[in-house]
Amino acid sequence: MRTTSRFRAAARMIAAIGVVSLAAACSGNGGGGGDAASYPDQNITIVVPFSAGGPTDTVTRMIAEPMAKKLGGKIVVQNVEGAGGTVGAGEVARAKPDGYTVLMHHIGMSTAPALYKSLGYQPLEDFETIGLVTEVPMTIVARKDFAPATLQDLVTHVKANANKVTLANAGIGAASHLCGLLFQSTTGVKLQEVPYQGTGPALTDLVGGQVDFMCDQTTNTSGQIAAGKVKAYAVTTPERVKSLPDLPTTTEAGLPELKVSVWHGLYVPAETPPEIVQKLSEALKVALADQGVIDQMAKLGTAPVPAQDATPEAHRAKLDEQLGTWAKIIADSGVKVS
Ligand code: ASP
Repeated sequence: MRTTSRFRAAARMIAAIGVVSLAAACSGNGGGGGDAASYPDQNITIVVPFSAGGPTDTVTRMIAEPMAKKLGGKIVVQNVEGAGGTVGAGEVARAKPDGYTVLMHHIGMSTAPALYKSLGYQPLEDFETIGLVTEVPMTIVARKDFAPATLQDLVTHVKANANKVTLANAGIGAASHLCGLLFQSTTGVKLQEVPYQGTGPALTDLVGGQVDFMCDQTTNTSGQIAAGKVKAYAVTTPERVKSLPDLPTTTEAGLPELKVSVWHGLYVPAETPPEIVQKLSEALKVALADQGVIDQMAKLGTAPVPAQDATPEAHRAKLDEQLGTWAKIIADSGVKVS
């Protein structure tokens, strides 16, 4: 941790009421090393902590161009995969706080601290929040020739074949892992989990028949569901998804406890100058209002968050609330990784 949380909370509060940036007063250049006035004057990298082609990557690439246009710079997307998204997040936590290294992460930011004994970063302490991006439903999908026809059939099938059925995920703490954990705790069955670096490659293997089933965001599965390349059982949100109108919700399909949606947000390392955080947040808002982005998201079963949530404050409040929520769920589940 670079500073005490009290110092950073004070800096944030003073910056928020527009008096002066405490970080700027201390360093003379707006805080953590970036020159806010000329920002950006070099390429910005958005780190995606999962594989290329997966849902987190897809959402990032959607917003990168309109964000870059608003900022008047160039954005490069880099995939830094591993350990359920914690490798990429750790790399950004340790990056120079100058606004040139940004992280796109999802719900996993709030679950990892409860799952990993030594994580190497603290979400609230080591990052500045830029804004929320989108909240994406998950689907439960299987290889096309997997025997169960409905979600209820799937439950019956896994109960009878627990030692044979494989469940793919994107590593410990990934959204697919959490959804899989909920599936197993709801059904009372322990399955063989197959971890990938992201659900992009996991879905490829599912289509190829190498694994049996998994949960994944609609931003990855919609195309394969529409093309009939995977079997879809349910969507894990209270309401059906407009772009997948025939897919029942888990509640309709008889597993009401299984509800997960995957919120995404952008981060920069702690001590990034508030002016740069603000510029990034403004650019995010513009990207989320872009009709092209709205249309692409709608096709993939999601939508941008409302403008008031694409802010550092709303994002921080969500992260704080989710850290508490998941700490309790995970502690109750007894799952822990070294
Ligand atoms: N959908 C993945 C997850 O399970 C992450 C990804 O590949 O984007 O968290």
